[in-house]
Amino acid sequence: MAQRRGVPHCGAAACRQRAHAATLQAGWQRVAALAVQQASALQPSLRERPPVVLWLRPAQREMEPVGPALRESLATAWRAAVAEGHRHDYAGRDSATALPDGAHALCAQCGGACCTLGGGYHAFVDADVIGRWQAAHDGAGAEAAIADYLARLPEEHVHGACGFQAAGGCVLPRELRADVCNRYVCEPLQALGDALADDKHRAAVVLTADGRRLERAALLQRGQRQPLPGLAGPGEAGA
Ligand code: SF4
Ligand code: SF4
Repeated sequence: MAQRRGVPHCGAAACRQRAHAATLQAGWQRVAALAVQQASALQPSLRERPPVVLWLRPAQREMEPVGPALRESLATAWRAAVAEGHRHDYAGRDSATALPDGAHALCAQCGGACCTLGGGYHAFVDADVIGRWQAAHDGAGAEAAIADYLARLPEEHVHGACGFQAAGGCVLPRELRADVCNRYVCEPLQALGDALADDKHRAAVVLTADGRRLERAALLQRGQRQPLPGLAGPGEAGA
């Protein structure tokens, strides 16, 4: 009825919400089309083989000191994990080898949104992680492992996120991280991995969006990132 009258919704809350969501979605599709256009102007080959479009959620970027309270809570949680034999089981393969070359450029563009979860799970350090460290150190005690992990904390970490997430990313070498850290692959990363498995030179336009705001946009190709400046989200100034 509303459509026949040429208005976007009938005024009912559910109808209004659906109409707003559709308008927002259409707005983002226009932003994506502009981003692809801009990328194609930079690289004319993309007109023949269009890039995949990937969407990321913004990662927290504000930093805060790693203070005594955080150190204490991590040490307490790690001791409890050892005592209880607690494990964060996570199936799969190490994403460093499971994904094609260049796929992890997406994580650099993202800034590690998934490491926010490490804040709530004490960096996923569990009985397995501590046990592996002990095995690699002639069976040294769990306290020595915990002391080593504490010594590796940066001076500052990303606000509210994992204690090991510094401004430039995780400070732990891969062999000291939990399986979940090395194996987790978010949907956009999997989509990029699939596209690169099909064509290792496939380009991607990556849009980091939050509600109506576009935080950043970039063209990814052959593991390189090129910013796409001047774009705005639907409803932002300049959109
Ligand atoms: S896995 Fe996904 S969420 Fe995590 S850093 Fe990479 S792109 Fe970001
Ligand atoms: S240990 Fe490293 S990879 Fe794992 S959640 Fe923390 S910062 Fe992220």
